[in-house]
Amino acid sequence: MSATTCLFCRIIHRELPATVVYEDDDVLAFRDIAPKAPTHLLVIPKRHLDGLQALDGEGAGVMASLFACLVRLARDTGVAHSGYRVVVNHGANGGQTVPHLHLHLLGGRPLTWPPG
Ligand code: AMP
Repeated sequence: MSATTCLFCRIIHRELPATVVYEDDDVLAFRDIAPKAPTHLLVIPKRHLDGLQALDGEGAGVMASLFACLVRLARDTGVAHSGYRVVVNHGANGGQTVPHLHLHLLGGRPLTWPPG
């Protein structure tokens, strides 16, 4: 998928609305439009990557930026204390519906295991 048609790239470029909770040069975080928990945020790289398998030699740096953001958001939203889950869905069987790499931050209620 090209960056111009990617849903999350359009959010990055403010072509689509979203409730943005954090932004810097490399990372954007916003509320999931269909939250699966009281806290459900998406943390994405501004650089378009289809998913985990698109990570190249810079992958460690991309993931470090995403996780640093997520940890701050977990603290700021209060779920760091009560507990939370980080999810990355990949591909069809993994349940990925938007082909732009993203971390889900889910918290605010007890989460069951295993996921469906
Ligand atoms: P995944 O299924 O892992 O690819 O996750 C994609 C997530 O994006 C889902 O949880 C959707 O609810 C969410 N989503 C889809 N469209 C939007 C949107 N316009 N704004 C915010 N979240 C969205």
